[in-house]
Amino acid sequence: MTEHRNVLILGSGPAGLTAAVYTARAQLEPLVLEGEPSSTSDQPGGQLMLTTEVENFPGFPTGVTGPELMASMREQALRFGAELVTAKASAVDFSARPFKIFVGDGEPAYTADAVIVATGARSLMLGLDGEDRLLGYGVSTCATCDGFFFRGQEIAVVGGGDSALEEAMFLTRFASTVHLIVRRDQLRASKIMQDRALSNEKITVHWNTQVAAIHGDEKLASLTLLDTVTGEERGLSATGLFVAIGHVPNTSIFEGQLSLHENGYIAMGEGSRTSVEGVFACGDVQDHVYRQAITSAGSGCMAAIDAERFLESTGH
Ligand code: NDP
Repeated sequence: MTEHRNVLILGSGPAGLTAAVYTARAQLEPLVLEGEPSSTSDQPGGQLMLTTEVENFPGFPTGVTGPELMASMREQALRFGAELVTAKASAVDFSARPFKIFVGDGEPAYTADAVIVATGARSLMLGLDGEDRLLGYGVSTCATCDGFFFRGQEIAVVGGGDSALEEAMFLTRFASTVHLIVRRDQLRASKIMQDRALSNEKITVHWNTQVAAIHGDEKLASLTLLDTVTGEERGLSATGLFVAIGHVPNTSIFEGQLSLHENGYIAMGEGSRTSVEGVFACGDVQDHVYRQAITSAGSGCMAAIDAERFLESTGH
């Protein structure tokens, strides 16, 4: 049976849940497809479920954890009558209104007069042989989820951005040594994070270094590192490898439906408008520049207001 809704929101990170709060308060009875639990970053609550302290979300002077922040947003959306379903859209048809949203095979699960896309982004992987096989067996994209398993062990974090440094610092709580593998001779992360990480005695930085190979049968046992200046290879025994090298947007189901940039992010028109009238986008799925919880939430608010005005103008 296909169910019709005024507004369907795809995704339940800060963008999707803020859009849910606003559209629910506008009496639009939104339905949120919140995603499905998985080990990567497209689970309900989005990427903040995989972070530790969030220190820069206004209103929390002493910080808040990512999962706590998302639980609060969820509660707030529910309070105003948003409906949340633990499911993921498998396909969409935006060629005519009402829009069709599929969950699994067969008939569309939903039709909607307006759609807000807030499907976010997920972690990039290194693309090494055995990386997929060892994901969850030493290879991880989530220090918060897996750090505890590496008590007293030597582990590595790849990347030089804020994510990598945040992961590395969190992991010092558990690991004996955290090897930070940085492909250039400088970090991309913010100054405050650099200062903290570089002064942490448990973090050893390997500059100009790439991970060339990972080894281990059932579990990760060691890495081969490549010095990008000298071309020399060396081994590093590490039971954990945390990959924190950036993200890709979750837009595969929108290919051929919405205009996308070459890098896969949704091409935006005015405000939160996409290339299809009545389909709006917010959060990391359309933002590869700022990618913050607060900008994501702000864009969710914009999408909700734009959707509300669109529905009003089309007589809903
Ligand atoms: P970034 O794109 O900022 O950094 C990615 C890092 O990974 C760079 O150092 C990059 O190297 C490196 N890298 C990319 N590809 C590879 C590869 N194949 N092999 C090795 N290294 C690679 O991503 P982040 O996820 O760190 O951050 C994204 C955004 O989120 C940023 O705006 C950041 O500020 C923000 N953020 C903020 C936090 C906070 O404020 N608390 C916490 C986490 C993220 P190179 O520099 O050479 O390109």
